[in-house]
Amino acid sequence: MVDYIIVGFGIGGCVLAAHLEREGKSVYVIDGSDVKASVVAAGLFNPVILKRYTMAWDGHEQLSYAKLFYNDLAFNLKTAIIEELPVLRRFHSAEEQNNWFEKIDKPELSRYLSPYLVENPTNAIQAPYKYGQVMKTGRILVRKMLEAYEEQLKNKSAYLNEDFDHSLLQINNDGVIYKGIKAKKIVFCEGFGLTKNPFFNQLSLVGNKGTYLIIESEALELKQAIKSHFFIVPLGGNRYKFGATYEQQVPKDNYEQAVRDQLVTYLNDLISVPYTIIDQVTAVRPTVRDRRPLVGQHNEHKNLYVLNGLGTRGVMIGPTVAKELVEFMENGTELRKEIDCSRYSSK
Ligand SMILES: Cc1cc2nc3c(=O)[nH]c(=O)nc-3n(C[C@H](O)[C@H](O)[C@H](O)COP(=O)(O)OP(=O)(O)OC[C@H]3O[C@@H](n4cnc5c(N)ncnc54)[C@H](O)[C@@H]3O)c2cc1C
Repeated sequence: MVDYIIVGFGIGGCVLAAHLEREGKSVYVIDGSDVKASVVAAGLFNPVILKRYTMAWDGHEQLSYAKLFYNDLAFNLKTAIIEELPVLRRFHSAEEQNNWFEKIDKPELSRYLSPYLVENPTNAIQAPYKYGQVMKTGRILVRKMLEAYEEQLKNKSAYLNEDFDHSLLQINNDGVIYKGIKAKKIVFCEGFGLTKNPFFNQLSLVGNKGTYLIIESEALELKQAIKSHFFIVPLGGNRYKFGATYEQQVPKDNYEQAVRDQLVTYLNDLISVPYTIIDQVTAVRPTVRDRRPLVGQHNEHKNLYVLNGLGTRGVMIGPTVAKELVEFMENGTELRKEIDCSRYSSK
């Protein structure tokens, strides 16, 4: 008998497993074959929404806690998973520059938006209006984190790589049984896969498709992430991610080519050095109508829980909501109304 089965091992499942294990609980993870949004993601953490220069929801609290959490996890996994990475906003006009300086006066933004203009770090990009820098930003090496954790779970025979079949789940008063594995509780962390989960699919994730190009360029020599229309994010070894697109309504035909053409147009407009496209990666962000996570308990089966709706900022949001869910499941501490999934299931 284990304490928890966790279904899905992207950022959601991983940060949940870490919180449970920290509390001395045993976990058994089942992860399937769907593309993980978590490994397609660039893994950036940045509490400022650069389109509008506003703070992300709960951004300051989430960022502070996430940094502590990932440091702790890196130590436990004996793997470096956090990189400091400056995020620069390229200004397209004097007006944009002025707008930045106006926003700096807002107390919640002043600790993140640098008051100094940043000189152009590369000749490969035209930036006559220079850049603004967001401070305290970085990147989680999500794939590395998941692989290291998966290895640790496999060594304890606590990881199964297969698609979970919801119809085989037996639910009793004191726990659940799945293919002979007994657990006190089960938590679904399936990302957009939640839409196929008969216990929680009424929560209706919206889903938001995103694509990056992976490019290689010797001449670019960038050490910072730059946000223009899209982000360009250095991955090391002359490789960069460029994107990501954000599409709720995706034309069904020819998506791959259409999105590639769109990204190439913007990329050619941004950089003036040769590059090669190495890959193109796409996944669906598990987004929710009200842009808040979906965390909580099934309204009928009290041993079934969900952690989802990490949206566009899973790296920052994940640790805080996993902590809250564990406190709810273990101590009965109430969930904040705005993240509690019952706000949808009761409708
Ligand atoms: C293009 C793109 C760029 C992004 N960039 C960033 C970024 O820079 N920073 C950031 O913070 N966030 C970013 N995000 C958002 C981030 O990726 C998500 O918030 C986060 O990955 C969601 O994690 P998750 O664990 O809920 O879902 P996922 O990562 O999708 O993981 C869900 C897991 O559940 C498994 N699963 C589903 N159904 C089943 C089943 N029936 N049985 C077994 N397993 C199942 C899937 O195989 C998968 O492994 C980006 C997303 C995209 C698409």
